[in-house]
Amino acid sequence: MPKVFITGEIKELISDGAIFYVSHSGGKDSQAMYGLLKKVLPSEQIVLVHSDLGKVEWNGVQDHIKKYSDHKLNVVRAKKTFLEMVERRGKWPSAAYRQCTSDLKRGPIFKFIRNDLKERGGTVAVNVMGLRAQESTARAKKVPFFYNKTQSVNKRVTRHVYDWLPIFYFTTEEVFQTIRDVGEKPFWAYEKNERLSCVFCIMGCVNDLRHGAEQRPELYKEYVELEKKIGHTMFMKGKEPIYLEDHVGIKVGA
Ligand code: SF4
Repeated sequence: MPKVFITGEIKELISDGAIFYVSHSGGKDSQAMYGLLKKVLPSEQIVLVHSDLGKVEWNGVQDHIKKYSDHKLNVVRAKKTFLEMVERRGKWPSAAYRQCTSDLKRGPIFKFIRNDLKERGGTVAVNVMGLRAQESTARAKKVPFFYNKTQSVNKRVTRHVYDWLPIFYFTTEEVFQTIRDVGEKPFWAYEKNERLSCVFCIMGCVNDLRHGAEQRPELYKEYVELEKKIGHTMFMKGKEPIYLEDHVGIKVGA
């Protein structure tokens, strides 16, 4: 079984009683990471968190997480929904400007970490994520463990926050292998999908978008209509915008 990325400093944080906030999207990377971390971290130092994106997520994702979880699943939500965010801004997020991740996932998760750590009277938190270098060139430039200065304070209140990416060097095959090795199955949508999380992801491939349109036609219609309403498309073909119906090859109501 592939091993998690771990350093002497992380081992010290474990023995010093830091709280490890494990983000779980329900996707394969989160699942493999959590499956391994249960063997590495003391159970009482794990807090499981899921950022709920509402109807734009695949149905049943939270049940899937709970099925294989030894911990209570803490569900956090942003005040706005994904589609409200797009409509207000009049633009879809992009790979370069992922407002969806920052506003709908990272923001609510860090808010939860701050509040939960305070309630426990703790001072050291580790924000644990299943990002991998192989996913994109931008992700490959990240470092798998660092002190998060933005989330840390050392004034009247003391809070030290670290970011840790335990499966940063895993390949996709190693991720699926880990899930099998820990005796679990990935979420059903992987039978056809390459990636999970939002049914229609701004970085999704045509294959995944098509599968989403087949499984969730009513949600697909909302995305198609929103594109037309704001006059901005989720995708580009070369330098030209391309509407979702043309990109995916499925017309609404057809
Ligand atoms: S899955 Fe895609 S669309 Fe959804 S929040 Fe993540 S990057 Fe944004």
